Amino acid sequence: MLACVALLLWGATPSEAEAQLEQRFAADARAAALAVALFQKTGDVVLPLPAEEDFDGGYRGIIHLVPQLPLGEYRAHLERVCAALADYDAFFERLEQAGQGKPRFRWRGLELRFFRSVKRRTPAAFASGWVVSYNVNGTLNGSVRQVRDLMFHELFHSNDADHRDWSARTLQRQHRLIRLKCGGDSACLQPYAPDPLMVRGGTYYSFQPGNDEREYGADLALRYWREQREALAGRAVAKPFKCLTPENATAWAALVDEFFAGVDAVPACAAPR
Ligand SMILES: [Zn+2]
Repeated sequence: MLACVALLLWGATPSEAEAQLEQRFAADARAAALAVALFQKTGDVVLPLPAEEDFDGGYRGIIHLVPQLPLGEYRAHLERVCAALADYDAFFERLEQAGQGKPRFRWRGLELRFFRSVKRRTPAAFASGWVVSYNVNGTLNGSVRQVRDLMFHELFHSNDADHRDWSARTLQRQHRLIRLKCGGDSACLQPYAPDPLMVRGGTYYSFQPGNDEREYGADLALRYWREQREALAGRAVAKPFKCLTPENATAWAALVDEFFAGVDAVPACAAPR
């Protein structure tokens, strides 16, 4: 399978790659059409996870993953991923129009590997290099909105690594200071948490024990995506993240400059803090 992947990504002509996709999805013509259209538009290649694996989920423990193409009963996941990626296309086009240059953020030319977790419903997805692996049995994979958020978070990890581990270089100190100040006190952490979602039995994902500043960075990027989407569409953003604490403002400005061509469509905060 690895040789096949390498051939497809590095050696195959577009028509060969499309033929491979059609073959891979032969059992489901609608899924095949989606995968081929996605490839034609973005260069993204849909594959199963290459083999079964035991995934080290950190605080979640070891989780067994099996390859699972998004076809048949799982086709809705491919539809959601395609919808999310199409949204990113539109978003980055608007961002480019609003900015001084190209965002330094890649969201195309990906390898999308699908899997199913056994007896567990995490991880929802994970990224390594320009490969994003996606769980058809994940808890954060149930709607277009969820998948849009999930994939943006994962894509940030890929881009973060590509920017020489930017979160570790830029956010580590601040992330540690917030942790020192708040410990596990969720009320204290609340204004610093870019994503209001809490881990069951734990705290905000960015400050969950076992998660470092890279998760804080990915959730910061997710918050950026959510807020800019609203602002660029002319809608008001309730409680902009950058206005909640001075630390948020610092992290926000650094993120905007590094990845998003300096574009921040959210109006300046009413009263500097
Ligand atoms: Zn993450």
